[in-house]
Amino acid sequence: MTKNKQSTFDRLIKIFKNNIKTIKDERRQRSNIKYNFNDIILGAFSIFYFQNVSWLSFQRKLKDIKGKDNAMNIFGINIPIENHIKNILDKINPNNFSSIYNDLLLKCDKIGIIKQFTFMEKYLLVAIDGVSYHSSKKINCKCCQRKKDRKTGDISYFHVAITPTIVHPKLKKVIALFQEFISNEDGDKSEYKKQDCEVNASKRWLDKFNIFIFLQKQYEVIILGDDLYSRFPMIKKILEKSHSFILVCKEKSHKVLYKSIEAYKRANSCNTFEISKIHNGKKQIWTYSWINNLLLNGNNTDNIEINWCELVIVNLEGRRLHCFSFVSNINISRSNIEDIILGGRTRWKVENENNNTLKTKGYNLSHNYGHGKQYLSQNLCSLNVLAFLFHTIQEFDDENYIKLREKIGTRKEFFQSIVSLTTMFVVKDFDRMIEFILLSRIGEDRVDVGEYLEL
Ligand SMILES: [Zn+2]
Repeated sequence: MTKNKQSTFDRLIKIFKNNIKTIKDERRQRSNIKYNFNDIILGAFSIFYFQNVSWLSFQRKLKDIKGKDNAMNIFGINIPIENHIKNILDKINPNNFSSIYNDLLLKCDKIGIIKQFTFMEKYLLVAIDGVSYHSSKKINCKCCQRKKDRKTGDISYFHVAITPTIVHPKLKKVIALFQEFISNEDGDKSEYKKQDCEVNASKRWLDKFNIFIFLQKQYEVIILGDDLYSRFPMIKKILEKSHSFILVCKEKSHKVLYKSIEAYKRANSCNTFEISKIHNGKKQIWTYSWINNLLLNGNNTDNIEINWCELVIVNLEGRRLHCFSFVSNINISRSNIEDIILGGRTRWKVENENNNTLKTKGYNLSHNYGHGKQYLSQNLCSLNVLAFLFHTIQEFDDENYIKLREKIGTRKEFFQSIVSLTTMFVVKDFDRMIEFILLSRIGEDRVDVGEYLEL
């Protein structure tokens, strides 16, 4: 294989490096600085990219033995010392990373990935959710949220991030957007009362989301969220930003609204129809209902007009299996209700596809890797999601990467294959590494090893 054009990985790393240049380096005595920001930030990123906390120390050993290493050949960096990474990342405000997400998304748009997420002809579904990625009774930093146990008085420390993602009901993949952290940094720590919260962080995120103006020129955005979001302040913010919404709306938390829905139902003024479906070989009845132009809070102040819809699924014996209810600003009709409910239900993808990766893989990593005094924990979380976004773009755009992912079923095994190779051998570059693993997986034995590895 000869490399003649810039690959997906190279282009993504170039975007990463261009953005690192814009981060202000506030270290003193710059003349003594051995590692630049590229080494530090990409070094940390490499750990998340390969989901292996020891990857850099393996590279240090390879460099000692062979005089060469994969940190240089894959990422173009000198291997930074882990303590340097921690000290420096602790001081960088995580907002600095939002421009990398911005440019990666621009790339996704240019190569036609975003277009595949178009829903109901003109919309993009953006699901917002909070994910907890740190919890401890001891380890804490300035940005930790705090909770006091009422009985014991013990304080526990935790971190939650808002992790918005672009989702589509028919696609398994999701596009991770930059996060907003729920942070106690400026809060009232003494009383543990006035803490930042998920809804406030989501509102801040919506203000920042305006940097994706290029997306909003081409698409209309529908914000998806759980029952926590279907309240006046959040809806007001979404509408202020000229977005639409489909938000979960449960009866127990919206009693006034459901009273008026009941009144409509009693007067036979609720639109409804049913269809039968076969699910896992069993027949089900799906009943759709909707009412437009309702007031979210009855006649209270802080009111807003919404449209309500619901899907109730029962089995043939009449047992209720599922009930999904949402409010939206989109006018609901017989022709769009199935799509609106489907769109609303797609919210769960943010938990399954995005947050699961962050929780099951990221949590352990950030926990083992360090917490810091200020921003380290948040930055490690941000780099972890960024690594996930890199992999997603490659899953859409990199031919050999796609073939290899298909060949190796699980993400875990995929990472293991790469880590085993790169801890024993120095590869020529990322693309030749992927091709080499792919050839060995398909049983190709006439491989000129010297084409792929530094021997
Ligand atoms: Zn913390």
